[in-house]
Amino acid sequence: MSASTQAGWRFDNSYARLPEVLFARQNPVSVAKPTLVICNQKLATSMGLDSGAIDAEVFAGNVIPPGAEPIAQAYAGHQYGHFTMLGDGRAILLGEHLTPAGVRLDVQLKGSGRTPFSRRGDGRAALGPMLREYIISEAMHAMGIPTTRSLAVVTTGETVYRDTGLPGAVLTRIAASHIRVGTFEYLAATKNVEALRSLADHTRQRHYPELTGDAEPHRALLEAVIDRQAALIARWMLVGFIHGVMNTDNMALSGETIDYGPCAFMDAYDPETVFSSIDRQGRYAYGNQARIAHWNLARLAETFVPLLDDDETRGVEIAKEILGIFPDRFESHWLGGMREKLGLFNAESEDLGLVGELLEIMAREKWDFTNTFRNLNPAAEAPELGAWQAKWQARLSRQPQTIEDALALMRKSNPAVIPRNHKVEEALAAAVASGDLGPMHRLLEALANPFEDAPEKQHYRDPAPAGSEPYQTFCGT
Ligand code: AMP
Ligand code: MG
Repeated sequence: MSASTQAGWRFDNSYARLPEVLFARQNPVSVAKPTLVICNQKLATSMGLDSGAIDAEVFAGNVIPPGAEPIAQAYAGHQYGHFTMLGDGRAILLGEHLTPAGVRLDVQLKGSGRTPFSRRGDGRAALGPMLREYIISEAMHAMGIPTTRSLAVVTTGETVYRDTGLPGAVLTRIAASHIRVGTFEYLAATKNVEALRSLADHTRQRHYPELTGDAEPHRALLEAVIDRQAALIARWMLVGFIHGVMNTDNMALSGETIDYGPCAFMDAYDPETVFSSIDRQGRYAYGNQARIAHWNLARLAETFVPLLDDDETRGVEIAKEILGIFPDRFESHWLGGMREKLGLFNAESEDLGLVGELLEIMAREKWDFTNTFRNLNPAAEAPELGAWQAKWQARLSRQPQTIEDALALMRKSNPAVIPRNHKVEEALAAAVASGDLGPMHRLLEALANPFEDAPEKQHYRDPAPAGSEPYQTFCGT
């Protein structure tokens, strides 16, 4: 048996076979002293990796697993509305691992040293933000929201310098792929239509195999990507998730949530909620996320123009027409999810109004988003909800399902445990400052079953104590 099969690694690197303009071959830069901080055993097992694969030297980039072909990916992106050439400045794609079930997964090291795309950056990452990505991505996964996963975090034994010296770390990120809106923008900016077509074909075959044989493959791909993004943003909205940095380089064609930087979950319901310290205009506020996704998808649609028709004017028309589906698709995914949150199995035309009225009350009263939904109960008196409760009860009584059915649907649609900001900070502080991983493991365990609310988990459900400082997040560099 070869070393690769012993550890369970099974690489087949299709992206590295695409046109060379899409990447630079680059090994991770070795680090002084790799130490495993946390490893996702369940994920490793589902990937078919055995204990030999759980190797701090591999996760730090010091040892390249057999079959890997390390590359840094080229991409561009609109950051806060401004176009920039970017690329993996601090990440290396080791390659694509095939799971025993035949699923193709990117294995990427984040914080793995400088690359040709690093610009002035050091190519490194600090422990706190990498553990933060680990916690939040795994919480999203447990809620059933499409997301990249976190396989491991190692410290490097080196210090990274931000405002202050911090322990360096590398996150091993697992993703359906790292193809971004910005990857298409990069090829469009260099007017490389041939490579653009290859990338579109690759993306379609990899993430939308159901479109194989479609008479208009590029049109079908664009439409499918738009629909998946509409569904994804709806899922975020339904749990109060704020991505925080929805630049086009942070939007994946696979439809997975990607790049956990200044993201956070909203406490009190307020559509204007922003946590990111640098988002002063509120561009990426909670209530703006659908609009921004639509804007990002317009940047993607522009890159598709030469693929949609040889005649540019006609290509633009088609792109606009496809892009136009987003608002309705988003609303339908969102309203579908809201119905489930309210225990509704069927659709009535008044439902949008019913949801809107509840959200209005929540905004006015500054109620906690998560707990309000979790605590809704059609079988109980709810004076604080006034006339709304009666309206909702009447709506429930018009569907064939029982109140018990409705409650069961609500309990699997309204999470009890989300990564509350103060709990995440508490876990990170213990892990980073004192090397105590206890709070993080306990938090991860609670987050792994978000729809369960055992009494001993109550402290994970409580909002931050009254009088806490407003929460702020920072870009995870
Ligand atoms: P992010 O904020 O992680 O989405 O990164 C945006 C861009 O900046 C990407 O091209 C990153 O590779 C790059 N970048 C972020 N941090 C660093 C760093 N410390 N060194 C080099 N490049 C970085
Ligand atoms: Mg990014």
